[in-house]
Amino acid sequence: MTFNALVVDKSNDSEVSAVVTQLTEDQLPEGDVTVAVEYTTVNYKDGLCLQPNNGLVRSYPHVPGIDFAGTVEKSDDSRYQPGDKVVLTGWRVGEIHWGGFSQLARVNADWLVPLPELLTTKQAMAVGTAGFAAMLAIIALEEHGLHPDQGEVLVTGAGGGVGSIATAVLGNLGYQVAAVTGRPETEPYLTSLGASRIVARSDIDTVVKRPLESETWAGCVDAVGGEMLARVLGQMKYGGSVAAVGLAGGAKLPASVIPFLLRGVNLLGIDSVMQPYENRLAAWQRIASDLPTKKLEGMIHPATLSDLPELGAKILEGQVKGRVVVDVN
Ligand code: NDP
Repeated sequence: MTFNALVVDKSNDSEVSAVVTQLTEDQLPEGDVTVAVEYTTVNYKDGLCLQPNNGLVRSYPHVPGIDFAGTVEKSDDSRYQPGDKVVLTGWRVGEIHWGGFSQLARVNADWLVPLPELLTTKQAMAVGTAGFAAMLAIIALEEHGLHPDQGEVLVTGAGGGVGSIATAVLGNLGYQVAAVTGRPETEPYLTSLGASRIVARSDIDTVVKRPLESETWAGCVDAVGGEMLARVLGQMKYGGSVAAVGLAGGAKLPASVIPFLLRGVNLLGIDSVMQPYENRLAAWQRIASDLPTKKLEGMIHPATLSDLPELGAKILEGQVKGRVVVDVN
């Protein structure tokens, strides 16, 4: 029995190839659960893993794909039986372990989460790591006291995966969402997801000399980092929190500590990769209950395994809108 996978191999020190290849089950890495993958997606990290010298992949040939959803085919672990629907994000799968750009994946049972009953495997990958991280960010903001009556919540990088899911969930929970985008053409899309205001990226992505501006945002889900995050910190309302999820605009933070000291602003770090199992379960349950399915459907761009090399390059350029859902079969 053979199956298809997108295999990345190193041609020389500065080049890699990415080709849909037929593999056999005995070529899969070790693990206690074999999953018939149904859907995967493309994340910023996947884009990196398709590039040479990416600092993430340790050995070649390699199958990328940092997340997937599918059905258990074989299991040596009592928690999972053949036929169970499962979802996987994180744990460096797709980086140091073969991932979801494949019709078959073998992983450790500890890395899996049972799919919530209300979600299909396709919907789970429409959410993907990006949406899972967005949900973790919203939970963190709530745990730090955020409530819909406190005012507008800013979402940066709103046209991307993290931003789209954050906008849809926050809108559904009754928040006023201000969505930052550098692509004015995404305005109707963002409004349809639940944004009540669009903020142009150019209005907010340069650092100003004043460390504090007027108190504008009750909370923020930030997918961008860099100068935009630094600027946003100075615009937060007293006691407000920013959940730092991403670095689409840069990893440096040229910020002042004044917003922390004079306004009690909180900067909350969000990591989706090493989250404990209980937090994963809770976040997936919240996704199933708080993300409107219709809005999720509107974010989906279908793709196949052979589209992934091109999509990987596009996501690194910030050119993917919403969520790409890859049907690996
Ligand atoms: P996407 O590429 O889908 O979205 C990023 C968005 O950011 C773009 O669509 C664009 O939105 C905006 N953007 C892109 N470049 C710039 C720039 N130079 N300056 C300002 N805005 C920019 O990626 P994801 O949403 O999947 O991921 C977003 C970030 O979150 C990535 O850095 C990713 O690595 C990180 N991430 C972190 C996780 C964690 O566990 N902490 C988990 C998942 C992702 P627009 O065009 O609307 O402005």
